[in-house]
Formats: sequence, structure tokens, C-alpha cells
Amino acid sequence: MSDKGSTNPVFALVDCNNFYASCEKLFRPDLRDTPVVVLSNNDGCVVARSKEAKALGIKMGVPAHLIKTEIRRHRIQVFSSNYTLYGDMSRRVMTNLEAMVPRVDIYSIDEAFLDLTGIERVVAFEAFGRQVKDAVYRNVGLPVCVGIAPTRTLAKLANHAAKKYPATGGVVDLTDPARQRRLMARVPVEEVWGVGRKLSAKLQAMGIATALQLADTDLTTLRKCFSVVLERTARELNGISCLVWEDAPAPKKQIMCSRSFGRPIQTLPDLEAAVAQYATRATEKLRKGQQYARELMVFVRTNPFRPGVPQYSRSTSVRLVNPTQDSRVIVQRTLSQLRSIYRPGYDYAKAGVMLSELVDDTGLQDDLFEPANTDSSDSGKSERLMTVIDEINLRSRATVFMARAAGLAAHAMRRGYLSPAYTTDWNALPGVG
Ligand SMILES: [Mg+2]
Repeated sequence: MSDKGSTNPVFALVDCNNFYASCEKLFRPDLRDTPVVVLSNNDGCVVARSKEAKALGIKMGVPAHLIKTEIRRHRIQVFSSNYTLYGDMSRRVMTNLEAMVPRVDIYSIDEAFLDLTGIERVVAFEAFGRQVKDAVYRNVGLPVCVGIAPTRTLAKLANHAAKKYPATGGVVDLTDPARQRRLMARVPVEEVWGVGRKLSAKLQAMGIATALQLADTDLTTLRKCFSVVLERTARELNGISCLVWEDAPAPKKQIMCSRSFGRPIQTLPDLEAAVAQYATRATEKLRKGQQYARELMVFVRTNPFRPGVPQYSRSTSVRLVNPTQDSRVIVQRTLSQLRSIYRPGYDYAKAGVMLSELVDDTGLQDDLFEPANTDSSDSGKSERLMTVIDEINLRSRATVFMARAAGLAAHAMRRGYLSPAYTTDWNALPGVG
């Protein structure tokens, strides 16, 4: 516990366990102990596994056709990804978190940072972590793990420990420096937030193999041999919070840009302007991580904490024919999705855009059965234009907007194992008896 009246920041990272697989299981109680995998759209590769599927040794990212035998032998239940369902469940989780703390930063579809600063004056951190975990399970039905620490980088590690060690009961309070060091000594440097595989190879060559060794490396050396980014990571591992939220490393699986509006928005053009900005920001992050997105999701909602006003909350998702990092394509598709879920007569309080099924450069491949370049005008010309836009936005901090073009029709996709839209379609509600 820190001093009375201390204003040192404390963060919690809440992360859903096996999120997509848990969403699928929630509506299929018959699958309680059954191994479940979720496949990427067009039913290509494994993008999520339940704990039973993990125990069978099914690897992340493996193409479905390579595990046909295992699927049959172990009766693994297969689902196509249902982003409309996951988006809806995500909003329920986030809304529950927002009801418990004053500030929530949504990091990805199933992860959020909570600001717990000062909360120890009311309740011990670990006890509060359990309250959060129990509330989400009780109200939404999804299991989460909670990691608590004085920096976001350490909160990530605490969450990693909460997942890895069942004895923790899914909650780890890492506010004690001695405990931080004990854990860091066991964690490979590759697991540290923002240290990728590439960077960790270089670090290991210098004899830095664990998170603790990185924390103890001289900061000037890190800045000289690597970057200020890694220097900042080392500071964060030492308990000094210095990461600006906007500069947080991009999630590997999805990129999320979502914000509450300063004041409620009613009209479609105002909503379009806000959402186009989020789509633009998300695509900038995508390009920064040199990735391409295959799937995008849009959501809007009113403020559930304002009593007595009509409530509305909806999300929708669409698959992009070709993976893209082109803002023009992403903004255009985002806006056409937004128009399909917009209903007049509501005070909208929040909206968001999520890009998922991310692939990197090398994984880029045109869909053989679709005309090329309908989505990603992935010529050198497009990439040069995007670079120019990024530079302008970086310099002026003003956002260069994409003109709003007419929406394209959603492409039909192969999703042979799609679960019903349990939460967003009355006709898909599970029946009783
Ligand atoms: Mg997760």
C-alpha cells in the first residue's frame, strides 16, 4: 500500500481469457468442457482457442486444413469468427468496467486499462481486482484476468502472471517493488510489452534475456543501442509511469480507436465526422506497425449511465476483400457500416472502430477468387499517398480527412461454422425447452 494522500498512478489491465472462444462457449453451455477453436474469415486459420484446445496442443495461426485429423479425433468444435457477436460482448465488458472506475482506456477488443489511482484508500488493490473479475463474470458471463501495477508495462506483466499461474486466482497485485523483481526474473524479455521477437533477439545477444535484466540495464546504453522507446520501457519496468497512452504499442491482433464524445451527438453527419477520424487514427497505427487489416468493426452507443433517455447500442463488422492499410478504403467502408447501424432520435455518447485479422507485409496475398484492387489499391502509388498523409498529420497535428465516398456492398464470405447473432438479432436468441 502506498502512502496516504499519494497520487502515484496505479493501473489495472483487464484482459478476457480466450475471448472469441469464451464468447462462443457462453451461448453453448453444452460445450462447457469441449475444445473450441475459432477460425479467421473464409475459415482459414485458427485465431482463438479455448483452454481445452490449447491443452491439446493446437497452435495459434495454424491453417484449419492441417488439423483436420485432430478436429475429428478430439471432437473439437469449430466456429467461424463472428465479429458482430464479439463486438457486442466487448461493449458489455467495457460498459461494466466503466461503471466501476472513473477512467477506462480500451486497448483492444478484449483488453482495457483502468485507472486505479488512489483506490487503495477505499479498498485493497487485490480485493478490488477480484471485485472487477467477479462483476464481469456475473454480469456478462466472461472470465477475465486482472493485473495491477504502478505502470501500464508492469500491469501487462502482472496480467501475464495472472493468466499463467492458476494459483493467483486470476488477479495479481504487482504494486510491491520486491514482488515486481521476483516476477521479472522469471519472465523472458520477449514477453515485455512492446519488445517484439526481433528486438528480443538483439537483446539476448547482449545478454539481456529476462525482463529484470532489461529493467537493470543502463538507460543511456538502451537509448544509444536501441531507442528512446526501449529506454521508456525500462523506466516503466522500474515502476516509473512515463508511457503516453497515444504512444502505446499497437496490439498484435486488433487495433482499436474508440472514444466518448465531449457532448452527445445526434446527427449522422456529426457521427460520420467522428467515426471517420477514429478510422483514420486506427489506420495510422496500422501503418506504423506495418500491418494490413482484413476485417473492420464499427460500434455506436448511447450513455447507459444516463437514466431516463432512450438507449441504443449496436455494432457491425465487415470483411475487406483484400487486406489493406489504405485510409481511403478503410474510411469508406467504416462510413458505410456506420450508416447501416445509425438510427435517428438518440443521444450518441461513444463510438469506435476496430481493425482486426491483421497480417504483415509478407502475408499479403490477393484473393484468387476476387477481382484484385477492389479494396486495397495496393500499388506503390497508394502507399506513397498514405506516407504523405501520415507526414502531414504528424507535422500539423491536424487530421487530413478522407472524402466520404459511396459505400460498397458487403461481400459475401465463406463462414461455414458461423454461430448465430445471439445478442444482436431477436431471431437468433437461444430458445429454452
Ligand atoms: Mg485476451
